Amino acid sequence: MELFEVTVLGSGSATPSLIRNPSAQLLNASGHFFLIDCGEGTQIQLRRNSIKLQRIECILITHLHGDHYFGLMGLLQTMHLLGRQAKVTLICPAELKEIIDLQNKHSQTGLSFPLEYVFTDPKKAQLVYEDKHLEIHSFPLSHRINCTGFLFKEKIGLRRIIKEKLQQHKISVAEINNLRLGLDVVDENGKNILNSELTEPPPAPRSFAYCSDTIYDERIVEYIKGVNLVYHESTFLASEIDRAKKTFHTTAAQAATIAKMSGIGQLLIGHFSARYGNTEDFLEEAKPVFENTLLAEEGKTYKII
Ligand SMILES: [Zn+2]
Ligand SMILES: [Zn+2]
Repeated sequence: MELFEVTVLGSGSATPSLIRNPSAQLLNASGHFFLIDCGEGTQIQLRRNSIKLQRIECILITHLHGDHYFGLMGLLQTMHLLGRQAKVTLICPAELKEIIDLQNKHSQTGLSFPLEYVFTDPKKAQLVYEDKHLEIHSFPLSHRINCTGFLFKEKIGLRRIIKEKLQQHKISVAEINNLRLGLDVVDENGKNILNSELTEPPPAPRSFAYCSDTIYDERIVEYIKGVNLVYHESTFLASEIDRAKKTFHTTAAQAATIAKMSGIGQLLIGHFSARYGNTEDFLEEAKPVFENTLLAEEGKTYKII
């Protein structure tokens, strides 16, 4: 089974503190690294967790509040100083290009590697990335400024050959490829063989969604229905529900309600306000609504199943 797992690098909101870093998560999809948000200090968190930053191929930024991107210039600069040549794809709000260009202009920095931009649309869902294994869609969130979430969906893989069964037949390499594609084949004696005799279905594709800063908004449900693991912000506890609304954030129970309505597998909550030292209370408020809730813990990797 190919790897599909996410590591939390930052789980706090607003300001970095001694106990929590601002938002960042690293998705490892079949050995390809996607960095989602890049709060201040993310490159240190990557090092602390022994993640090679030059392996990051794609960086996704949800919105332009500092706790989600103030680590980006530092990270790009380090990649440059280490002599990176390989392209970095940056999926982000269009305004971020202006910020990066201005910083590079005044520091007279020409990056050693190409930056390829894909701009998110804050108004509607769209496909922002596609490769052999994976599709990424952005979708709108309701926050104080333009903000998008991201949905990562594995593609359906090829059918798997059952080796012991294959050994009982003489089949050409070309026909073995046809078997993987799901076609029936003819062996070297001219005998027809049904695909189902020699193969089994590919593993079910997995999905992960990242719902960054947002007010409680049931419109999210349509984008994350049935997803295996959903990260949803949970900045406040229920006692601060009015503050959550005023600042366009969510409480733990509200995040759990969205999870329940969406029929997802597991919920991961984070973006905890610095006012809370202990995060167990978040779990206590979320679990009665949606039992399968996990706390975002920095340095911890969550397998998406
Ligand atoms: Zn934030
Ligand atoms: Zn924000």
